[in-house]
Amino acid sequence: MIEKIDHIGIAVKDLENSFAKFKNIFNISNYHQETVEEQKVKIISFLIADVRIELTAPTDQDSPIHKFLEKRGEGIHHIAFKVDKIIEELDKLKNLGINLINDSPVDGAHNMKIAFLHPKSTNGVLIELCTEK
Ligand code: ZN
Repeated sequence: MIEKIDHIGIAVKDLENSFAKFKNIFNISNYHQETVEEQKVKIISFLIADVRIELTAPTDQDSPIHKFLEKRGEGIHHIAFKVDKIIEELDKLKNLGINLINDSPVDGAHNMKIAFLHPKSTNGVLIELCTEK
């Protein structure tokens, strides 16, 4: 079952500069910074009201975020939905014929298990499912 929108991922080239901008605009004092080795990204995330925004920059040339930036430039990268049972959700989507980037969950930020659906199956929107480990 989908519980809520967990976060919105924004692809950026320069994490620190981008965060400095968001920090000023939204007067952010609390934030979380992390490198996610498995995704080859570094993130800074923070809450605006009760919505988590996740600024994401590549740590490597073959990071999916690097490819996204090359192709489409900076901007909204994905919407993440929190689910209670991620494996069950992925099976359900497979049965519906939805293309999955991750057939089974992988490690994400915030100690979460995550999986992406292929944007070709979802009108060009990259959707992430996530769940607490
Ligand atoms: Zn995400």
